[in-house]
Amino acid sequence: MATAINELPVAIGQTKLLINNRWVNSRSGKTFSTINPATGEEICQVAAAEDEDVNDAVKAARAAFESKHSPWRKMSAAERGKLIHRLADLIEKNADELARLESLDNGKPYHVAKTADLPLVLASIRYYAGWADKVQGKTIPVANEYFSYTRHEPVGVVGQIIPWNFPLVMLAWKLAPALATGNTIVMKPAEQTPLTALRVGELILEAGFPEGVVNLLPGYGPTAGAAIVRHMDVDKVAFTGSTEVGHLIMEGAAKSNLKRVTLELGGKSPNIVFADANMDQAIEGAHFALFFNQGQCCCAGSRLYVEAKCYDEFVEKSVARAKQRTVGDPFDPKTEQGPQVDETQFDKVMGYIEAGKKDGAALLQGGKRVGNKGYFIEPTVFADVRDDMKIAEEEIFGPVMSIIKFNDIEEVIERSNRTSYGLAAAVWTRDIGKAHAIANNVRAGTVWINCYDVFEPGAPFGGFKQSGIGRELGEYGLQQYTEIKTVTIKL
Ligand code: NAP
Ligand code: MG
Repeated sequence: MATAINELPVAIGQTKLLINNRWVNSRSGKTFSTINPATGEEICQVAAAEDEDVNDAVKAARAAFESKHSPWRKMSAAERGKLIHRLADLIEKNADELARLESLDNGKPYHVAKTADLPLVLASIRYYAGWADKVQGKTIPVANEYFSYTRHEPVGVVGQIIPWNFPLVMLAWKLAPALATGNTIVMKPAEQTPLTALRVGELILEAGFPEGVVNLLPGYGPTAGAAIVRHMDVDKVAFTGSTEVGHLIMEGAAKSNLKRVTLELGGKSPNIVFADANMDQAIEGAHFALFFNQGQCCCAGSRLYVEAKCYDEFVEKSVARAKQRTVGDPFDPKTEQGPQVDETQFDKVMGYIEAGKKDGAALLQGGKRVGNKGYFIEPTVFADVRDDMKIAEEEIFGPVMSIIKFNDIEEVIERSNRTSYGLAAAVWTRDIGKAHAIANNVRAGTVWINCYDVFEPGAPFGGFKQSGIGRELGEYGLQQYTEIKTVTIKL
């Protein structure tokens, strides 16, 4: 059970907009409240950016990108790399405070923020800091008396719109490659979780980034977010969030200036367990794949396909494991699962649990709210789930496991691909042939074999089909932040 948090476990710092290296109120004077999902109570008010603020930020970002006098424009790639490293060092120095703030604002367990989110943030930023002076073009053997080479130039002013499930990780995955390649940035953190981005804003100033390079605009999607998307002087928008809003982003780009679009959207990832797998590892792995981060992962293993031969054993042990999962105060070191991020998400997840029951799935564990304060949900397990049930088709984004039976490999590949999503997949087996058959034939951007949710900054991540466009992380992630210029010389 959640214990009421009477005193905040961390001091609240900056709550304004960061535009051109200055902290300002929104022009309208509007603010919004960010809440603590463990209690449902307001943490503080935060400035709410709208059109005019987006305009100011884009102007600052444009000047930093293009003005002859801009220190960012004049800075060498190696210097840029050093600056990004400096930011990583400052984040590391303040990692405990950032983990507390992340936990308070988002509801994820503090020890998870500290030992999972923050290390990935640091690794991602440092990975791209190292790339800054290693981004290079090619020389090309063109015909006759000509010579061509390519330059990888920054795209320009980049709008970045991030979600609330991994606020700092998403910030790092977006900021770091954009900065490494010399772009300037207008970023909107999610309305549910603006606080860690603002703290990083203070560290960006401390690191010494020049004016206008990074602008941070907390605010709402349909106002601040949409203003970035339709702005005629934004060259690219990078978005992570729902597939529904992903469609709006593309539409906005199409209707304005054809700004480049990269999208990291939802998923309904198949997690496939064969009877020859190491059963204990598969059960723990499937538990982690679904319940990690309160089930709020775009790549959650939310269609859990289990081979008929081991189905009953797997279900029984998965239910037992879910029963043991500790739900409660995010600042209690024993807590595995905190609250859902807000009331909207809580209601949505509870709605899916009702749909599962109504469609005739077997509810074997959980299904109810925990306590009467905050947005806690019992770890929930449904068995006998069919592919055509709502809980097997739609993204739930909560702690609800759906276990589905399959008989053979051809069948499970075909069923895995029967979805509009294609973000991730996993397979648990000791048979290398089966593992590769899944890896090669399931249409998804990432396939994990005998593991799940392994993220390395060098390994690209992103979606097939309606799970997205483009890739984040790795060298592929860099390409999304450059334009290729061909220069041809007559010899
Ligand atoms: P969302 O609406 O897609 O939010 C993601 C980001 O987009 C937020 O910063 C949001 O602003 C912004 N946004 C919303 N509408 C916009 C618009 N018209 N133009 C520009 N930006 C806009 O996601 P959500 O409502 O928080 O969550 C809904 C569902 O999305 C979840 O249940 C889950 O299925 C999925 N989701 C996926 C991911 C992922 O990692 N792929 C992450 C989060 C959610 P606000 O802060 O004002 O909402
Ligand atoms: Mg919050």
